[in-house]
Amino acid sequence: MSEITTYYPWGDTRRIHAASNYLRKTFGSRIQKLTIDAGFTCPNRDGTKGVGGCSYCNNDAFNPSYCDPQQSISWQLEKGIRFHENRYRKAPQFFAYFQAYSNTYATLPELKARYSEALANPKVIGLILGTRPDCMDEGILEYLATLAEKYYVVIEYGLESVYDRTLERINRGHTFEESLRALELTRKYGLKAGVHLIFGLPGESRADMMASADIISELPLHTIKFHQLQIVKGTRFALEYQEAPSQFDLFSLEEYIDFMCDYLGSLNPEIIVERLAGESQPDVQLSEPWGLRYDQVLKRIEEQMARLDTWQGKYFKN
Ligand code: SF4
Repeated sequence: MSEITTYYPWGDTRRIHAASNYLRKTFGSRIQKLTIDAGFTCPNRDGTKGVGGCSYCNNDAFNPSYCDPQQSISWQLEKGIRFHENRYRKAPQFFAYFQAYSNTYATLPELKARYSEALANPKVIGLILGTRPDCMDEGILEYLATLAEKYYVVIEYGLESVYDRTLERINRGHTFEESLRALELTRKYGLKAGVHLIFGLPGESRADMMASADIISELPLHTIKFHQLQIVKGTRFALEYQEAPSQFDLFSLEEYIDFMCDYLGSLNPEIIVERLAGESQPDVQLSEPWGLRYDQVLKRIEEQMARLDTWQGKYFKN
């Protein structure tokens, strides 16, 4: 007797609407993201919005080895391509991922120069631009809309939380209302928006985090990324954690797996999931590392979803 195969609303057998499958279906092959540091700064560090940055942020802790702001964008891309060509899972095409700091925080001519340099590499077929919701305006969006006619373009906003009290607590320097405005403007220009959320921020209960699934599900989103809070050395949280660790209710691996299974059950199945957890080198963490690579955490979450027979959007109501 042949086994019955379940296809979920996004047309494949994974229980999450996974970005890797979406990209393979859309482009016909695996696409690798190349992280670059294009030498931007951030208004929450240079004094425009604040100094010292968000309480959890130490950008250097997440940059891969080929990412060096002292080098040109083309150099970083070439190095990244060579790095990935030596790996087991090869990709013929790439996205330039402007990840470090706020990648729309410059004048339009400067932005054009930096994005064009990335797109000049014939293997680069798209841009992913990490930025803050308060670093976007109609001039930039209008320009990005012209690029999106030819390339895959996603603007990835750091939302981090849907609660203003949390945003204040983590020194984000913007409100949730500003995030909504940026997402609405992005939609107005027909551009794809992604967001980033952190779970385990101080002052948010598990119920608060879970309740955000309904809010997030209503937003005009193409992609989403989730990270668990990790206490990284060299951050404001690292100091607070050393002083009073009990003010942090960090997720253990098992708690996070259970939480994500519930959360994904409520999440709009149309939103493409880019990432379910963060990963940083154990030596930069002050909190106890989980001891697993990201792919192992992802596997554990998907295995648990199978055991519970749940999937992204199982409980989502339009
Ligand atoms: S997380 Fe982003 S917005 Fe916050 S300080 Fe770091 S670079 Fe700036």
